Amino acid sequence: MSIQKISSFAAGEWIAPGAGARDIASAITGDVIASAGNSALDVQAMLDHAREVGGPALRAMTFHDRARMLKALGQHLNANKQALYDISFDTGATQSDHMIDIDGGIGTMFVFAAKGRREMPDDHVFLDGELEQLGRTGTFMGQHICTPLHGVAVHINAFNFPVWGMLEKLAPTLLAGVPAIVKPATNSCYVTELAVRLILESGLLPEGALQFVAGGLGDMLDRLGMQDVVSFTGSADTALMLRSNRTILENSVRFVAEQDSLNASILGPDAVPGTPEFDLFVKEVSREMTAKAGQKCTAIRRIIAPESQVEAVIEALSARLAKTVIGDPRLEGTRMGALVSIQQKQDVLAKAALIGSEAERVFGDPENFEVVGADAAKGAFLPPMLFHCADPDTAQRVHDTEAFGPVSTVMGYRDLDHAIEIAKRGQGSLVASVITHDPSVARAVAIGAGAYHGRIYINDRTSMKESTGHGSPLPHLVHGGPGRAGGGEEMGGVRGVKHYMQRTAIQGSPDMLSAIGKQWVPGAAEIEGPAHPFTRKFGELAIGETLHSASRVVTLEDIEHFATFTGDTFYAHMDDAAAKRNPFFPGRVAHGYLLLSFAAGLFVEPNEGPVLANTGLDNLRFMKPVSAGDSIKVRLTVKHKTPRNEEYGEVRWHVTLTNQDDEKVAEYELLTMNAF
Ligand code: NAP
Repeated sequence: MSIQKISSFAAGEWIAPGAGARDIASAITGDVIASAGNSALDVQAMLDHAREVGGPALRAMTFHDRARMLKALGQHLNANKQALYDISFDTGATQSDHMIDIDGGIGTMFVFAAKGRREMPDDHVFLDGELEQLGRTGTFMGQHICTPLHGVAVHINAFNFPVWGMLEKLAPTLLAGVPAIVKPATNSCYVTELAVRLILESGLLPEGALQFVAGGLGDMLDRLGMQDVVSFTGSADTALMLRSNRTILENSVRFVAEQDSLNASILGPDAVPGTPEFDLFVKEVSREMTAKAGQKCTAIRRIIAPESQVEAVIEALSARLAKTVIGDPRLEGTRMGALVSIQQKQDVLAKAALIGSEAERVFGDPENFEVVGADAAKGAFLPPMLFHCADPDTAQRVHDTEAFGPVSTVMGYRDLDHAIEIAKRGQGSLVASVITHDPSVARAVAIGAGAYHGRIYINDRTSMKESTGHGSPLPHLVHGGPGRAGGGEEMGGVRGVKHYMQRTAIQGSPDMLSAIGKQWVPGAAEIEGPAHPFTRKFGELAIGETLHSASRVVTLEDIEHFATFTGDTFYAHMDDAAAKRNPFFPGRVAHGYLLLSFAAGLFVEPNEGPVLANTGLDNLRFMKPVSAGDSIKVRLTVKHKTPRNEEYGEVRWHVTLTNQDDEKVAEYELLTMNAF
């Protein structure tokens, strides 16, 4: 059998393994299938290439350009994913494990692509949060902005998700506009290498945006500077060693850590046998124990059940786990494949022995189990192993030993407070779940244990059909956790992109802030357009282009007509004495919605034109009541423009209604879709 040489991609060239290369064995047969690593890799040239070639090319693109690139990359990987499936079996993963790793990774890319287009501007500056008015009259303001770091992101990944692990970091990094050097764990780097080759062959990335290290990083971390980021996933021990690097500390290099985790799942006191929640709990726990042969950072390690239900849980779980067919992951009937390597298997057995010093093994015998279609003595196979810890209060190992395999411990709780205390003994984890149909249980766990967990997953009969699973980090939500879990955060939509950008507080006049953010700020100069803005196409409209309408008197007849026409005969519009008793009104006043309708009548250009649709209002505030006899007028200003597709884009208009004394009556943002 030929041994595959896993190359690194450095400064535009594929570099074959060389001095210091390591053999990689198949998880199924134990045969050496690949070798990777080259201690002569020129890591400085890689850093220079990323900083000098990749970074500038990415920063020349807008957030939308990069989001489109991610979408195309996702499509390209999707079209070629069979090749990734084929090669992944040797890591011990089954087809359903591939779905988590490969399809999950591609899906993550699509979500970031969509969020980049929807939630970020077609520009180089991201506005973070709202304007802050710092002076009394509004001539001096503050705004946080984010711009891409000028360095490189070094991604160090764990072995268990060779594709997802890379893509969940790469998508936000590229969207931010920062080049990446990806270093997967050596054991499964042949899968990542293929994914990198597919990405590079697509020709979609600018030169220098992605480089790849198979094997060790050499002294790359000693060469990092203040514009670089290390994003690490792996064990707490490795994270501690890497984040203590002197250069990283000296240069305040950002270090995002996703570490190991003793995740818990709590069976609610209400979820007794016979309820849909009890069955759901057993299903979720057994799935988490066996998916990826338990090699998931989010897997359930501690099963926390009411003391009265411990026996029933062990019985039901054991019955379900007994159905797990273990064997060659290529075989269709296999439910659980192998661990990634023999060393990993030995490590899990050693950790299981530690857990066994405080807990009794109630299911799964590593010395005696069936393996289908493969040689149990050669491959890294293990059965699911369930332990029962009778005294979780005095035990320690069951709360701090991560056996990174199909190993989990059941422990009983006396009451919900006790369950929460046990969950917290994990010293910070990525996720805790609670399976309950009782909202008060869900709230108690969220408040009691939230500070110790990055994510709390609640499931019951209502959500079970659509729920995504205890163990699945989602690109929309943060993934990470406090303490032992690393104290880091990844993904979480645009939040995850900000890890690769610098947040800067900008202070200045409205004109300065408008120019920097390409968003009109109240108080900034208004531009008089050559024609009514509704007659101007998306591309023609300038930020700040403003229409001042004529004014209109609001009469008592208008108010009464609107009230009877719509049925909104609320007393403040109909009954002068009652309105006067209200602290907000001087007497009968016009409906807010009447004012909005009059505003539309004042600023509209009725003929068919580039405005295709009114798609909504944001941030509507009624500031001063309007009485019969008052007059109103409107200022309509182009605040921001976001292209949506080839045909049209969204225009965000800043709208202010004022009365005869120039006092603000209402303010809002109007959204329209305008043709190009
Ligand atoms: P690991 O042994 O800590 O290795 C993690 C990564 O660090 C690998 O790429 C490894 O490369 C690299 N590394 C080790 N020493 C290094 C050094 N001196 N300089 C640079 N890089 C170095 O972890 P693992 O065994 O791959 O993964 C299992 C662990 O990861 C478990 O504890 C699991 O809980 C955790 N994990 C956490 C998450 C999460 O999101 N929180 C996700 C998945 C896994 P080599 O392979 O070349 O040594």
